[in-house]
Amino acid sequence: METGRWLAALLCLVWLGLLGLVGSVGCGEADPEEPPQAEFAEAIPSAAEAIDPPSTDAVPYSGNAGPSIIRELRQDRDEVRTEADRGGRASLLPGEDGSVPEGEVGRPGRFRLAYEAGPLGVAVGGSVQLQVSPFWGWSEPQVHAADLPGYTEVSTEAAGVELAPSSRGGGLLVVEIGGRALVEGERIEFLYGAGAAGTRVDRYAEERSPFFFAVDGDGDGRRAFLADAPVVRVRAGRPVGMVVTLPSVARPGESVTLRAAVLDGAGNTGVDWQGNLELVDAPESVKGPRLLRVEPGSLGLVQASYVVEEPGLVELTVRGLGGLEVRTNPLLVDPDAPRLRWADLHGHSVLSDGTGTPDAYYRYARDVAGLDVAALTDHDHWGLPFLDETAESWSEIRRATEAHYDPGRFVTIHGYEWTSWLFGHRHVLHFGGPEEAGAHLHSFLDEATDTPPELWDALRGEPALTFAHHSAGSPVATSWEIAPDPVLEPLTEVTSVHGNSESPSMPNAVGGGLPGNWVPDALARGYRLGFVGSGDSHDGHPGLAHLGAGTGGLAAIEVEELTREAVLEALRARRTYATSGPRILLSARLDGEAPGSVLAPIEAAELRIDIAGTEAIERVEVVRDGEVVAGHEGQGERVLTLSSEVGPIAAGSFVYVRVVQRGGGSAWSSPWFFEASTDAE
Ligand SMILES: [Zn+2]
Ligand SMILES: [Zn+2]
Repeated sequence: METGRWLAALLCLVWLGLLGLVGSVGCGEADPEEPPQAEFAEAIPSAAEAIDPPSTDAVPYSGNAGPSIIRELRQDRDEVRTEADRGGRASLLPGEDGSVPEGEVGRPGRFRLAYEAGPLGVAVGGSVQLQVSPFWGWSEPQVHAADLPGYTEVSTEAAGVELAPSSRGGGLLVVEIGGRALVEGERIEFLYGAGAAGTRVDRYAEERSPFFFAVDGDGDGRRAFLADAPVVRVRAGRPVGMVVTLPSVARPGESVTLRAAVLDGAGNTGVDWQGNLELVDAPESVKGPRLLRVEPGSLGLVQASYVVEEPGLVELTVRGLGGLEVRTNPLLVDPDAPRLRWADLHGHSVLSDGTGTPDAYYRYARDVAGLDVAALTDHDHWGLPFLDETAESWSEIRRATEAHYDPGRFVTIHGYEWTSWLFGHRHVLHFGGPEEAGAHLHSFLDEATDTPPELWDALRGEPALTFAHHSAGSPVATSWEIAPDPVLEPLTEVTSVHGNSESPSMPNAVGGGLPGNWVPDALARGYRLGFVGSGDSHDGHPGLAHLGAGTGGLAAIEVEELTREAVLEALRARRTYATSGPRILLSARLDGEAPGSVLAPIEAAELRIDIAGTEAIERVEVVRDGEVVAGHEGQGERVLTLSSEVGPIAAGSFVYVRVVQRGGGSAWSSPWFFEASTDAE
């Protein structure tokens, strides 16, 4: 499913900030076959390159830090832009029949856009710039080949004004002004997709896909983005796939919700489809409807309630869409098993470098992916616009996060991504309300919070936590020289769309992994980190980022109550495990103790592992201190119980379990930690 192209697009994310700065860095359609990491490695200068030191002395950068990115972002932030650079406004014009133009995923489109000069006009030598998102499949706006997609006609009725348009790559079309200045009220029109081929539309459905405009009004070579970008709605494509979820743990006799979502080929919701879905071969013991009707206008979504009286494992198969059969994740019906909740604690929206609105993000998380817990973590100072400089965007995120918080049913958490190119990216989650959380956008570009210890100092005492991601490699690794704060950072993200940072021997290892920087290397330093996976979705598909990217991440959290407080408590206690996206059931106990615990050294203990995969299990491994000490090869079964004697295990050791199923889906238990004295816990 377009994995190669998706990764190439993701790679381009790195360029977005730079595009905003210098407007000359290209990021066209990368070759899908080209490994993105290689290209990226060249883009990141070595840490040895000179940079203004951060405000705290002697903090070691990560091994592939990008100091030049920081330098350019700081220069850009401090650049003086005049009022003329922000002047004027841009709009999307109605179609020839007066209708509001819309795009459809995968279909050619044509869009008429207008820029109108403000009171200060645009000087000769200045420019008006159309910036189309370079990430998600829009055609490059170009002025040289009328028969190719993206051909753009640029025109004005202002007599004496000469326009010199040129494509600069990365979705940027720069129109230089000559002849005379453009004065207030005069317009430049852009017909994007003017040729017979039109323009290719964004591959992700969204309510407001922006066409950004930037202006250099005084002609000094510095531009500013207009505050309001015209937006276009992009509708989902044809229905071709389906995702069907159940909760993973329920009590006998309890009502559970099955959610079915009919999606297009890119995993977008909102397809125009109606029809019946049918439960195939459902056991008698599962009480509930056998036929699900997807109604017109339902966006392809339907849900139904079921009751299972008998303890045991349940999987249901749903048939629809012309014979397509899709299996749910396994549901464990058990009177005592710990309640398991599925979370995606990391993803992006159109308000930094992703697609989709914050509202759409949470709706997708809840109604399509069937998550219990979600956090939208847009970048603090990366993408368009910069969140730390755009109060309205930060307010919109907090408003949406609060509006979707439904204690007992769906937990949303305030957050953002602290996007340090020196020490590694970290998510900051705040479990308070919008006002409390709102006071806490601590940007990595702010000298007061540009190191991890400063960030933790700023968060200390708050109901907050942080965790590192893609910690082993690209696009920037975590500097594990700096010990994670034991209270504020109890977890680490072992897998996301970037791949896994746990081991190069596991599927989809993160690109550019640095020796000595994998998760077991961090644990060997004595850090007690539980494991979570997160999507890091940029496609508006939290909880299902792996559909588009081939791999992703989910966090399974053992928590009964669905409130922010209870989820925070469970995360701090490391009652979690990670998967690369599939809802694999993984229960591991060491002499009855749950992973995440700190234990006294043992001579011998019983390790019991119960797994229910979504595909056949290929291998199960027990890892102690970074080494595989026990393994099991699967024989094609999806359900497995293993039991073995382990030990002795000395103080300072850590042990965890990892699972690989057919197709590469993976799961990692949190570690058990062994300490001579466990009083502190
Ligand atoms: Zn990141
Ligand atoms: Zn991210």
